[in-house]
Amino acid sequence: MEVLQDVKTRVYKFGNKAADGNSKMKNLLGGKGANLAEMCNIGIPVPPGFTITTEVCTEYNLLGKDKVVSMIKPEIEEAIFNIESLMGSKFGDKDNPLLISVRSGARVSMPGMMDTVLNLGLNDDAVIGLANKTGNERFAWDSYRRFIQMYGGVVLGMKPEAKEDIDPFEEIMEHLKYKRRIKLDTEFTIQDLKDLVYDFKDAVKKRTGHDFPTDPWDQLWGAVIAVFNSWNGDRAMYYRRMHGYPADWGTAVNVQAMVYGNMGDNSGTGVCFTRDAGTGEDVFNGEYLINAQGEDVVAGTRTPQQITKLGSIRWAELAKVDEEDRVKNYPSLEELMPEIYKELDGYQEKLEKHYKDMQDMEFTIQDGKLWILQTRNGKRTGAAMVKIAMDMYKQGLITEKEAVLRIEPSKLDELLHPVFDAKALKEAHVIAQGLPASPGAATGQIVFFADEATKYKYTILARIETSPEDLEGMNIARGILTARGGMTSHAAVVARGMGKCCISGAGALKINYKTRTLKVDDKVYHEGDWISLNGSTGNIIEGKVATSEPELSGEFAEIMKLADKYATMQVRTNADTPNDAKIARNFGAQGIGLTRTEHMFFEVDRIKAMREMILSDTLIGRQHALEKLLPMQRSDFEGIFEAMQGLPVTVRLLDPPLHEFVPHQLETQRSLAEEMHITLEAVKIKVAELEEFNPMLGHRGCRLGITYPEITEMQARAVIEAALNLKERGIVAKPEIMIPLIGTLTEFESQEAVIRETANKVFEERNDTIEYSVGTMIEIPRAALIADKIAKYADFFSFGTNDLTQMAFGYSRDDASKFLPIYIEKGILKVDPFEVLDQEGIGQLVEMATERGRNTKPNLKVGICGEHGGDPSSVEFCYRTGLNYVSCSPYRVPIARLASAQAAIKATL
Ligand code: ADP
Ligand code: MG
Ligand code: MG
Repeated sequence: MEVLQDVKTRVYKFGNKAADGNSKMKNLLGGKGANLAEMCNIGIPVPPGFTITTEVCTEYNLLGKDKVVSMIKPEIEEAIFNIESLMGSKFGDKDNPLLISVRSGARVSMPGMMDTVLNLGLNDDAVIGLANKTGNERFAWDSYRRFIQMYGGVVLGMKPEAKEDIDPFEEIMEHLKYKRRIKLDTEFTIQDLKDLVYDFKDAVKKRTGHDFPTDPWDQLWGAVIAVFNSWNGDRAMYYRRMHGYPADWGTAVNVQAMVYGNMGDNSGTGVCFTRDAGTGEDVFNGEYLINAQGEDVVAGTRTPQQITKLGSIRWAELAKVDEEDRVKNYPSLEELMPEIYKELDGYQEKLEKHYKDMQDMEFTIQDGKLWILQTRNGKRTGAAMVKIAMDMYKQGLITEKEAVLRIEPSKLDELLHPVFDAKALKEAHVIAQGLPASPGAATGQIVFFADEATKYKYTILARIETSPEDLEGMNIARGILTARGGMTSHAAVVARGMGKCCISGAGALKINYKTRTLKVDDKVYHEGDWISLNGSTGNIIEGKVATSEPELSGEFAEIMKLADKYATMQVRTNADTPNDAKIARNFGAQGIGLTRTEHMFFEVDRIKAMREMILSDTLIGRQHALEKLLPMQRSDFEGIFEAMQGLPVTVRLLDPPLHEFVPHQLETQRSLAEEMHITLEAVKIKVAELEEFNPMLGHRGCRLGITYPEITEMQARAVIEAALNLKERGIVAKPEIMIPLIGTLTEFESQEAVIRETANKVFEERNDTIEYSVGTMIEIPRAALIADKIAKYADFFSFGTNDLTQMAFGYSRDDASKFLPIYIEKGILKVDPFEVLDQEGIGQLVEMATERGRNTKPNLKVGICGEHGGDPSSVEFCYRTGLNYVSCSPYRVPIARLASAQAAIKATL
C-alpha cells in the first residue's frame, strides 16, 4: 500500500446544514453516516461531526492499528477542529471541553450489534470545566459516570463474567441504590455520582490492571479501534451470517459532538417511527424519557413515555394506568412539550417524504432544543412491510412498481405461518398482559437464557430485558417475552426485524434467573412450562393454544394482485397430496410442477403392497402387488387433479432407490416375513441385495422404470385413468408425466414408449381420450448437454436443481452437511448451493439446456422444481433465463410470485 500517493478521502465531515457526503454513499459511509450527512443537507438539525469510511475498517483489518492511525490522523485532527469551531468548545480543554460520541454504522443497520461510546473527552479536569460551563454539576458528573461505564464496557472489556451476573458497573450502582434506599438513577446525589466515578475507575483498575485513560486523544483512538473491532465481534458476526452479509463490508465510525438529554427536566431523549413498525398503521409513534441519555430508552431500565397523546392513551389502557395518573406521571411529549413535539412531527413528515419510506429516528432534546441523531428505513414485521408498501402506494408516495419492489419476498414467510385459532383464543387463560411489541402467535416452553433456546423444540425466551448478546437465542426461540422495556426496547426492535412474536414490558412478571422461575401474582411458572404469546394483543397465555392456517387477505392479497400484474413467469407448486395442492392453490399456484409419487407409497397401508412388489422375484409377483397399488395411486391422482381444477399437474414417476422402502429393523423385517409367508432370512437377503454404496448415483429414477417397466406402466395407467374419471365428472385434468433422471436419449425413448403404449391401451379400453404430455427432468449434467436431442421427443423440461447441483458439484446431498458448513465458514463457498442456485456454474447448465432445447423445439415448456424454486434470487435467475415457471413448496408460493414479479419489473428499469 503506497500511503504517500494515496489521495483518497477517508474522513467525511458533516454539520451546520452541509456535508461532504449524502444518503447515496451508504457503502462508504455506512447507513448512519450517509443519513447524518443527508439530514444536514436537507436542513435538519444534526450535531456536527464526521464519518471515518468503511474502507478504513478494511484497511485496519489488513494493516493493524498503528499504520491506520498514522494514516488518518491528519484528517481526523482537521475534522475535530471543524467540530470545535462549530461548537465553540475544545476537545481536551479543561475549561470548555468538547465531548463527542463515537458510533459504529455499517452499510445496513444492525441495531445494537456494534458498539457506541458517549461523552468521550471527559476526565477529572474536564468534568469540572463542564460543570462550571453549564452551571450543572449533577449533569457533568452523571455524564462522566456514563462515559466510564460505556467506555469500560465497549473498549476495556468490562462485561459480565457469567450469564447469571449483571453488568459490573450496574452492580456497583445497584449496591449504592440499596445502601441509599433509592430506586432510580435520577435519585443519585452529586456526591453519589462522584463516588460512582471513583468506584467505577477502581473496578477498571482491579479488573484490567490499568488506569482508566485520561487523555482524550487516547480515549478517541481506543474507541475508534473498538468500533472497528466490534465488526468482528460475535454479535455482529452472527447477525451477518443470519442475513448473509459479507465480512469485507466493514463498518464506518461516526464521531459527533455530544448533545445532552440529561441536563435536567427541560432535556430528554427518544426514539420514534413515522409509522407503526409492528402493524404498519400510518401513525407517528415512539417513546422518550426526560432527563436521560441515548441508550436509556432502548435499555428499558426506566419505563419510557409515549411521544403522541394517542399513543399514550393506548399505552395507558394496556398498562392499566388511569387517565389522571397518566397525565400526571406519564404524559406524552405532545402534552408535555408541545412546541418541541410540533417541530419533531414536522421532521418526521419531512424525512418520510424525503426517503419515501418508514423512518426510525433518534432524537435528543438539550435544554429545550431539539436535535436529530439518526434516521433510517425502519425495521418492520412482514405484515407492516406489506401494509406500508400498499398504503404508500395508495397515498401516492410511491408507484405501483415501487410498491411491489418494496416487498422483501422472503419476509412474506412470516405471514404464512399458522395463527392462533380464534375459538381457542376465547377459551385461553390469560395470565398477564404486556406491550404488543411484535405481532404473531407463539407457543413454547419457557427458557430464561438465550443460550438455552434450543433446550426444547419450541421455546419462549423470557428475560427481564434482552441485550445484543441474546440475538442468537432470540432467533431460535418461538417468541420473546420481557418484563421490562417499551415498544422501542432492544427486544421489541430486534423481534420486529426478525418478524418474531414479542411481548415486552410485562411488568406483572417477576423473573428470577437464579431459580429459573417466572412469577405472576402468586402463581409460579418454571423453566420448561408451556406458555403462549399473542404478539398482537400483548396477552400472555398459560399452556398451549391451537393454531389455524393463515390466509391471503387484506393488503397481502392486494399486493399479490399487483404482483400478478407484472409477473410473466408462472409459479407452480410441489405438492404430493390434495391438501398441499389446495393450500398452494389458495396461495395462487398456477399448477403443480412436481408431484412425487413415491410419497404416496410411504403411508401405512401402501408400504405393504410396495414392499411386496419389491420383494417378489418374479414379474407375476410384482404385477400382483402393483395391481394393489394401482387403485390407491389412481385415487390420489384424482384428488390432486380435482384440487387443481384444470391447472396443469406434473407427475413424476417413481424416483428413489427401492432400498428406501424396505424395513431395516429386525422387528419390522420379522413381521414383514410373516405377512408375506417367507423366511426372515429371505427378507434380510433382499434388503442386503438392495443396499448400494452410493444410492444417490445408484438404481433410481428412470433406471427403475427401465429395469421394471411394469412400474412405469402401472403409474401411467393410474394417471390416465384418474384423468378420464374426472372427465366423466366434468372436471378437466391436464397431466404432464415426467420421467426422472434421464442421462441418455434412449432412456427417455424407452420410458416414453411404455407411457404412450399404456395410455393408448387405456384410451381403447375406455373408448375416450384426454390430453397429456410426456417430458423429463433435466438433473444429470449429461442430459443438459444433449438437451437438443431430448427436446425432439420430450414435451417439456423441468430442471431438478437439487440433483443437478449434487451431480455437477460432485457433492453428495446426504453427506454434504459434513463439509458445507466449514466451506461457508472459511469462505470457500459464499452460500449453500442447495439453498441458493449457483448461477455461475449450475446456472450455465440451466441456460445451456434451455437454449439447446428451444433450438430444437422453440416453444418447449421449461420449468424448475428444485428447492431453489422458492428462493428469490434463484427465481430472478430463472426469469432471466426465460423459464416458463418455477415450482416450490406450497408455503413459498406467494414468495416466488412476488420474486417473479420483481424480476419482471427490474428487467424494465
Ligand atoms: P445504535 O446503532 O446501537 O443505535 P448509536 O450510535 O445510534 O447506536 O447510539 C446509541 C445511542 O446514543 C442512541 O440513542 C443515540 O441517539 C445516542 N447518541 C449517539 N450519539 C450521540 C450524541 N452525539 N449526542 C447525544 N446522544 C447520542
Ligand atoms: Mg442508533
Ligand atoms: Mg431428482
